[in-house]
Amino acid sequence: MNNMRPLLLDLPPEEWKLGGVPGYRAEQVRNWIFEKGVLEWKGMSNLPAPLRGDLAEQWDAVPMQKVKAQGSTDTTRKFLWRLRDGQLIESVLIPATEGTKGVRASRLTLCVSTQVGCALGCRFCASGLDGLKRNLSTGEIVGQILLARMEAGRRIDNLVFMGMGEPLANLRALLPALDQILSPKGLGIGARHITLSTSGLVPKILELAKYPAQVRLAISLHGGDDQTREKIMPINRTYPVERLLEACERFVEERKKMITLEYILIEGINDDLSQAELLARHARRLNAKVNLIPYNQVDGLDWKRPETSRILAFRKEVERGKAPRVTLRMEKGHDIDAACGQLRLKDIQAGLEKIPEYP
Ligand code: SAH
Ligand code: SF4
Repeated sequence: MNNMRPLLLDLPPEEWKLGGVPGYRAEQVRNWIFEKGVLEWKGMSNLPAPLRGDLAEQWDAVPMQKVKAQGSTDTTRKFLWRLRDGQLIESVLIPATEGTKGVRASRLTLCVSTQVGCALGCRFCASGLDGLKRNLSTGEIVGQILLARMEAGRRIDNLVFMGMGEPLANLRALLPALDQILSPKGLGIGARHITLSTSGLVPKILELAKYPAQVRLAISLHGGDDQTREKIMPINRTYPVERLLEACERFVEERKKMITLEYILIEGINDDLSQAELLARHARRLNAKVNLIPYNQVDGLDWKRPETSRILAFRKEVERGKAPRVTLRMEKGHDIDAACGQLRLKDIQAGLEKIPEYP
């Protein structure tokens, strides 16, 4: 990313000195970006034109451009963004009707990427197929939310860091991004509406336990024992199941909050009922929720989701094992390749990545 102007959103707004402009001008810029969702300098109409020109010379305010938005029959929408260096990432907007105690509300969740590609190479995942290209910067993480909010035309209620990449491998950019996301002067999204998903980077889980804001944690378990998990997740050789569970215990002790164990179901790989029993045992030990996710097929990979009857039998077995709470998420957006990394993969295969048209 040489020869590019610095990205304004990479700085925390309180450090926007902007070459010494008066504080109220910096505040106007903040207001345009975070309150009104206007990221282009030329749209910031209450700034004098010469000042806008100067600022545009010094800073890039737009972190990425939309290459494509793909809708789905269940109204999940997936965005493919092109970053300033031509790399592609994606975010997925997922509507849901939620409610407790009889109050129903329509909520929007955004699934956010944290890296271009992923180094961890889980064998079922489209994001890891091509290795890691690079980390996203703070502004590129925050930018996905600002731009998706603009596309949606309304507030985004929940964030899940389950897009491309391993969020805990990029804490250096992610923690400052979270500061902007949490701040009432930034996006103002509360910590309990934010979930980080990790494939199980033990030292980073322990580091995150000390982070002051109470963001939620989801662990991609996908196997009840080392033998099963190792078949699909190379990271298990570095941080085996028992070490991972111990780190989770520490996290839960520190936070006093339930975590979630995610478990994708892949036919013939991890869908044996003995795994369901183990999963329930781990969930009881951690007092964790279990989220079962039938595998989303990826082009070029041979893995399959199990038959529905097997999926239901697996859930029943986890419940029989007295896991505290079990949900089965029939993946939304199945028809738009909404699983992690899939849309980008198709576009890279089609050569789209090679034609950066920014700025
Ligand atoms: N790297 C992090 C977060 C991104 S992946 C992690 O692994 O947790 C978010 C979730 O999507 C993970 O649980 C991952 O295992 C799951 N996933 C990846 N590919 C999938 C697929 N094809 N079908 C269903 N879930 C998938
Ligand atoms: Fe990376 Fe997560 Fe995909 Fe594994 S599942 S390759 S950690 S993005």
